[in-house]
Amino acid sequence: MATRAGRQPRCPICRGKLPEQEESPERGPKFAPLCSLRCKRIDLATWLGEGYRISGEPAEQNDDDQSGDER
Ligand SMILES: [Zn+2]
Repeated sequence: MATRAGRQPRCPICRGKLPEQEESPERGPKFAPLCSLRCKRIDLATWLGEGYRISGEPAEQNDDDQSGDER
């Protein structure tokens, strides 16, 4: 419990140092683990864009519609 350096969380987007987060269970870090809303948006865009892809597992589409399929 002596070395604090090197354990500082950093924003994965801009790689900037995160502001000191209050360890209050009620509040909590707003944009954690990102530093700001801007970086959070970028992160979210990455997720919705290219970063996140569902592979092989459809959300709610089972091939269990053998009956009632009138085409
Ligand atoms: Zn950032």
